[in-house]
Amino acid sequence: MGLDDREALQTLRAAVAGDGVIGRIYTRWFAIDMSARDLFPPDLTRQRASFGEALSWLLAEMIAQRAEEPVAFMAQLGRDHRKYGVTAQHYDSLGQALLTTLHSELSDVWDGRIAEATSDFIELVIGVMRGAADAEQGPPFVDGTVCEHIRATRDVSVVRLQLDRPLAYHPGQYVTVQVPQWPRRWRYLSPSIPADGTGAVEFHVRSVSGGMVSTAIVGETAPGDRWRLSNPHGGLHIDRHGADVLLVAGSTGLAPLRALISDLSRYAENPRVHLFFGGRYPCDLYDLRTLWEIASTNPWLSVTPVSEYSTDPPWAGDYPDHQPPRGLHVRQTGILPEVVTRYGSWSDRQILICGSPDMVTATKAALIAKGAPPERIQHDPLA
Ligand SMILES: Cc1cc2nc3c(=O)[nH]c(=O)nc-3n(C[C@H](O)[C@H](O)[C@H](O)COP(=O)(O)OP(=O)(O)OC[C@H]3O[C@@H](n4cnc5c(N)ncnc54)[C@H](O)[C@@H]3O)c2cc1C
Repeated sequence: MGLDDREALQTLRAAVAGDGVIGRIYTRWFAIDMSARDLFPPDLTRQRASFGEALSWLLAEMIAQRAEEPVAFMAQLGRDHRKYGVTAQHYDSLGQALLTTLHSELSDVWDGRIAEATSDFIELVIGVMRGAADAEQGPPFVDGTVCEHIRATRDVSVVRLQLDRPLAYHPGQYVTVQVPQWPRRWRYLSPSIPADGTGAVEFHVRSVSGGMVSTAIVGETAPGDRWRLSNPHGGLHIDRHGADVLLVAGSTGLAPLRALISDLSRYAENPRVHLFFGGRYPCDLYDLRTLWEIASTNPWLSVTPVSEYSTDPPWAGDYPDHQPPRGLHVRQTGILPEVVTRYGSWSDRQILICGSPDMVTATKAALIAKGAPPERIQHDPLA
């Protein structure tokens, strides 16, 4: 029966969701293989939560007898884990830790069927991840040197790097990034320029309140810092032969949308693109001059700046003046979901939304409430 035994998989899924089980899997893993501990940051809370969610989702898919998406997911996970330095030995010891922990959690009900389902499930997960990692050619990451750090506003930095070799990604994709201030704490960042053959790349980073990595990047990044980049992901895209386009960017959510706009600017003919770029204060609209420059030579692009407050705070004077020359639409006051939907439902557009999870959720809901079809709306994963 093995992976066809739904009842045994249900039992396994309940065990995985049990209190503290994931923690015990990690503890056992590190006891069997101390070198595995060095793969992770000191605080494992986030890692444990993600691993538990992934196992639970995989088992739910197996119970529903769906294999395609889980296999693709595990393969991606295997490819991703190359950047951590995961070896064949780590996969073996993880498999062992999973089996012995689940065996002891389920000792009351352990029988031939549960044993078979458990070992088949573990073999599948480990086998697909390891197989996908082994099949990958080329280095798992690329390092680069920070050459410029611009404090664009109080909480946004523009960071430019020269990579040791070019990294291939599609405009609109995001990559995982590790900075020297926080080794092993990888975060997603979206390049704001399309992939460059010489290895130049630019990121826009907003320090989120209480955030570990983003505050360190904005507060401490200096030329010469070595960053590590890996694994482009994401599918934000604009169909150049499709409908007109609505782009909504909150703060550094502008980065991937600007990469897409730059890519479009290689062509003379494009669908009409309307970008709403929002921030809290007018001085938060840090990249208006670049947008103005693109819009002034590309008539398919129009840009509406949006700020929650109509005047700047006193500290705005400490940062560059972001007022663009005349030519863009008049700045609107309000929050993005409200301002964007004042103009209608945009239901005939390709719609791309980028920014904080709250902003994306609210803007998407407002557009759908106005009549925009959900299947036309794209955004990155929210976590
Ligand atoms: C697909 C994707 C692409 C991204 N691209 C960019 C980018 O180009 N530029 C950029 O600045 N950030 C980007 N992010 C967000 C980034 O990856 C980090 O999540 C963010 O910088 C916070 O990391 P941290 O270590 O500082 O915070 P953590 O220490 O991980 O979290 C601290 C607190 O901040 C909250 N938090 C996390 N992220 C956000 C957020 N975005 N807004 C508000 N609160 C948050 C958490 O819930 C938590 O409460 C992207 C995220 C995703 C999922």
